[in-house]
Amino acid sequence: MIERIVFATGNQGKMKEIKMILGDLGLPVLSMKEAGIQTDVVENGSTFEENALIKAKTVQKLCPGDVVLADDSGLEIDFLDKAPGIYSARYMGETTPYEIKNAKILELMKNVPEEKRTARFVCAIAAALPGGEVLTSCGVMEGKIAYSAAGENGFGYDPIFWLDECGCTSSEISPEQKNELSHRGKALREMKEQLKNKLLQEIQG
Ligand code: IMP
Repeated sequence: MIERIVFATGNQGKMKEIKMILGDLGLPVLSMKEAGIQTDVVENGSTFEENALIKAKTVQKLCPGDVVLADDSGLEIDFLDKAPGIYSARYMGETTPYEIKNAKILELMKNVPEEKRTARFVCAIAAALPGGEVLTSCGVMEGKIAYSAAGENGFGYDPIFWLDECGCTSSEISPEQKNELSHRGKALREMKEQLKNKLLQEIQG
């Protein structure tokens, strides 16, 4: 019987988003810290999905009775051959402030015309279930690299990610709107449906 969901992240912002979206599944959703788990996972996969699966499976071994969810996400810029992609967090060094990373990208894109500025945020989510079964989902938010940084909300590359449908960057929309539109929100809602079906199957024996 599935009794808890553990999300393999140390990021408080993500945890808040995840609890908001998965809240109505009727199961407690815990961070690794709340579940008393501590581990460093080496993300050496070559896709977002592979990395999410590596994280979920590694953490699930430490709490074999729980469903463990993990995500991996990043920004793909078409003009830069989909960089920074799976290296988004590590781009220019993990501890480099995003003001510097974003300024570098704006510089690299300086003379690029609008139609070639296409980019997307991608998020893969993996679930490792007791017994070894895995589920995966993926969400995408399409946009463009802006000509300058703007906005105070969000994090990471949000200030330079232009959303045509909003007429502003993803750093200028509200957290609720971001949840609605974001790659992570979409992937989480897809995963929630898959988990609901699993829980139903369990109940029906
Ligand atoms: P992860 O935590 O390993 O999935 O790393 C994701 C990285 O991709 C973050 O550190 C950000 O640089 C970037 N990223 C992912 N999602 C977003 C987003 O919604 N806004 C801005 N940057 C994001």
